[in-house]
Amino acid sequence: AKGDGRGVHRFYSQEMLAGAKHRQQLEDDLRAAIGAGDFHLCYQPVVSTADAQIVGYEALVRWTHAKRGLVSPAEFIPVAEECGLIEALGEWVMRTACTEAARWPANVRVAVNVSPVQFANPNLPNIIASALAHSGLAAARLELEITEGVFLNESSATDQMFKALKGLGVRLALDDFGTGYSSLGYLRSAPFDKIKIDQSFVRGIAQPDSRNAAIIKAIVTLADTLGMETTAEGVEIQDEIELVRDLGCSHIQGFVYGRPTRAEVVEGSLSKGEVI
Ligand code: C2E
Ligand code: CA
Ligand code: CA
Ligand code: CA
Repeated sequence: AKGDGRGVHRFYSQEMLAGAKHRQQLEDDLRAAIGAGDFHLCYQPVVSTADAQIVGYEALVRWTHAKRGLVSPAEFIPVAEECGLIEALGEWVMRTACTEAARWPANVRVAVNVSPVQFANPNLPNIIASALAHSGLAAARLELEITEGVFLNESSATDQMFKALKGLGVRLALDDFGTGYSSLGYLRSAPFDKIKIDQSFVRGIAQPDSRNAAIIKAIVTLADTLGMETTAEGVEIQDEIELVRDLGCSHIQGFVYGRPTRAEVVEGSLSKGEVI
């Protein structure tokens, strides 16, 4: 086995090199893409369980890479966060989402994902205020989706940021609830309007032995008590619509109601008054 040691080591370091090289290439491409504007937003409907009406859309960023085609945000957002590019990209997302949503009927909201890196920037409220002012979108129509990641380094600045954002009149949603490593303590003080139940809790919920139903029920009870709405994420089939509705979720998002779609298509169907 000792004789293999060098080979193993060499293989390992080559892997590392390939990883780092790929990562650097992605970072370089991302920087160029921000300059070139190779991004667009897609919008996925969020539906009220009470009356099956669309209450809003979540903006999801898309990058069309010149050679690789569509790159998943799950791949490039973490890189953008690590190398600081999320500031410029996040600002572009905020401005674009507000501008595009301002063309929708006034009762339709837009949700924008805000990275913990953006949340840690004291200038974020100014960026949002400016996006609202330039677009003419009413603050109450903008919902910010924030993950538990913002509580990782909780400080007085975290509190201040929540106050400043609420002061703008925007809504706040806690995204991917239940997947982070934070305690529940932050629910005491953070002013969320909504909890988004991560799609991992919705998976398999239609199976009779699913423990996820019990978890969703507990989350809904907690949210109800705290006066927060709940969106079940990643709802893919009709059976799941009925189950999460019966468990008390106030909203549903998922492929069953619509995939993320380009702004032009969303605008077209909204202007024709189409329901889902
Ligand atoms: P997320 O915020 O949890 O967004 C929901 C993701 O679930 C989206 O993936 C959406 O396409 C997908 N999804 C929706 N319904 C279903 C369903 O029924 N089944 C399944 N299997 N998936 C469903 P997407 O667009 O690939 O985005 C992945 C993640 O990338 C997002 O997760 C979010 O964390 C991040 N992201 C996307 N856009 C932005 C952005 O503009 N800013 C930031 N900071 N992060 C973003
Ligand atoms: Ca989200
Ligand atoms: Ca989510
Ligand atoms: Ca997620």
